[in-house]
Amino acid sequence: MNQRLKLPISQVTGIGEKLQAHLNELGLFDVEDLLFYFPHRYDSYEVKPLTELEHQEKATIEGQLTADPTVQFYGKKKSRLTMMLQVGQFSVKAVMFNRPFAKKQLKAGDTVTVTGKWDQHRLQITVSQYKKGEAKSQEPIQPVYTLKESVTLVTLRKVIKAALEEYITDVEEILPEHMTVSYKLPGRQQALHQMHYPESRVLLKHAKRRFIYEEFLIFQLKMQLLRKLQRESTTGNAQNYDNDQLTNFVQTLPFELTGAQKRSLAEILKDMKNPYRMNRLLQGDVGSGKTAVAAIALYASITTGKQAALMVPTEILAEQHAASLKELFGDLLSIVLLTGSVKGKKRKEMLEQIKNNQVDLIIGTHALIQDEVDFNNLGFVIVDEQHRFGVNQRRTLRDKGLNPDVLFMTATPIPRTLAITAFGDMDVSVIDEMPAGRKPVDTYWVKGQITDKVLSFIQKEINLGHQAYVICPLIEESDELDIQNAIDLYHQLAQVYKPKVHVGLMHGRLSNEEKEEVMQKYAANEIQILVSTTVVEVGVNVPNATVMLIHDAERFGLSQLHQLRGRVGRGQHQSYCILLADPKNDVGKERMRIMTETTDGFELSEQDLKLRGPGDFFGRKQSGMPEFKVGDMVHDYRALETARQDAADIISNNALETDDRYKSLKEIIEQDEHILGKVLD
Ligand code: ADP
Ligand code: MG
Repeated sequence: MNQRLKLPISQVTGIGEKLQAHLNELGLFDVEDLLFYFPHRYDSYEVKPLTELEHQEKATIEGQLTADPTVQFYGKKKSRLTMMLQVGQFSVKAVMFNRPFAKKQLKAGDTVTVTGKWDQHRLQITVSQYKKGEAKSQEPIQPVYTLKESVTLVTLRKVIKAALEEYITDVEEILPEHMTVSYKLPGRQQALHQMHYPESRVLLKHAKRRFIYEEFLIFQLKMQLLRKLQRESTTGNAQNYDNDQLTNFVQTLPFELTGAQKRSLAEILKDMKNPYRMNRLLQGDVGSGKTAVAAIALYASITTGKQAALMVPTEILAEQHAASLKELFGDLLSIVLLTGSVKGKKRKEMLEQIKNNQVDLIIGTHALIQDEVDFNNLGFVIVDEQHRFGVNQRRTLRDKGLNPDVLFMTATPIPRTLAITAFGDMDVSVIDEMPAGRKPVDTYWVKGQITDKVLSFIQKEINLGHQAYVICPLIEESDELDIQNAIDLYHQLAQVYKPKVHVGLMHGRLSNEEKEEVMQKYAANEIQILVSTTVVEVGVNVPNATVMLIHDAERFGLSQLHQLRGRVGRGQHQSYCILLADPKNDVGKERMRIMTETTDGFELSEQDLKLRGPGDFFGRKQSGMPEFKVGDMVHDYRALETARQDAADIISNNALETDDRYKSLKEIIEQDEHILGKVLD
């Protein structure tokens, strides 16, 4: 690697001590950082005819001043400068705020180029940038960088331009030639220049294509190498479970496993037997029987005499899992539930038992298990929902001398291929088949608010002995108001349905004891209607519930709606989901339509992907999802897939070690801290 790129940015012309400090705040320390600080968008100053402009578009217009500009002052420092421009046959008014000094620079008859927001109806432009002279003299596409207050865009453009001029010849190609040739990717120097100062949209596209591929390839190489190293470096983690015991246990289950369950289980058991550490994702729609598979795997692990742990995101879920697993395993295993509500002496005892190997299975939330528990002999960990078990968490366990097999479960249906690619260091099992006899949930979309018809529908289901969930109106970003809504709705419904039907209330501010009490009453059908905020979203299992009513359904994403809907349809009765929604736009309406048309989580996730577009698919930065600088996992999915395949070939041929064409890539990959850490292990 060229060491000149590692020089501090102060070596670049124009960067003094003060600016250096500010740039450091942006995470820019060496020349390479600066060169690879890519714009997040570009301003285009292409002049288009007025007739082609769209209302509110950011546009650039060139025209001739028909009079001297005029300035009006108002307030203390505020001003408004008005220019009348002749643009072809049109007369356009250009207004610019708080830059009165421009009046001195511009006279009637001058040609000016202004950029700003175009008002089609009034033939007016609100100017953000102006320049005396013709548009041609400006560079057509200008980079816009993410900034902090201390550095201006003009400054950043200047120093990046200087860095490009002074150092671009030090940038070395890292992709082997046969790759750039076969994928028609521009060279690294050329692409880098185009990323900052594209000569055209087309050249920019190719430059991006190059860096996207480069980024994905490096990511995939790292992940796959890490996986390989992990496998090779682990010894003695083979779990030789007792096959007879396991078969007996499976036979006691009240159902026959589905084909998909059997397949996933076989994949998991194979990982266990192998000496390498399992790092597997088990994916399946809500109700597809993941927990059943997990339980069998847990049992297998425990027959080896080791301990197992089940980590879940919330205490409610921990309690539910504990209850259902205790029922499933009976006396076969000793299970403890370790939550925040276990306190004092009892807690001490529990931790003591875990330490002394008197306990087989420990169920708790993620935090609890990681921080304070001193396992005796942990062989297997299952992580349920949402959180990916990161390298750091694994390190925490390793620091404790533990090296368990890890299985993640998620009900977020990510298209299979995308999952395999996104989690390059993981193996993926998919349960893509529902247990037989499940009746798909009938879904209805009701416009607007709750109606008498809806109320009597719920009553009818309750008369049949069934139960209902009512999910409350959602106030964005306000837990407080959400809870107030839940309380109000609870009172209203209690009034409507009294005295025969009992209504319960669930929200995040209840204490754990209160939550548990409510859930137990609901599970025992002492409560028929459960009014709740979205806390019931994940995992809760009450098979007797047949109605899911969701207020403000348009405010939820498809996958969240699908999760909520998954709370019903878990038993043998026909179930219903009622979406109360008044979507204001087409996407919202489309979502409701999709919900009423399909109950297949994978199909839904594909549709969601199309509707939401790239970038947004995984919602608010879901933990564990890799982040990329240029590439987007969804939008650039094909490049990701190509990179994954190429990386697989390189790794399996051991080409990083043996083939000189990959020398630069090898250098980069070996600098990764995880891989370094791994190799040093
Ligand atoms: P998930 O964890 O994927 O949401 P669960 O494992 O909780 O699904 O299964 C949902 C319900 O289906 C449970 O009540 C479970 O007992 C039942 N179940 C699981 N597998 C089967 C199967 N193969 N046949 C019939 N019922 C099943
Ligand atoms: Mg193993």
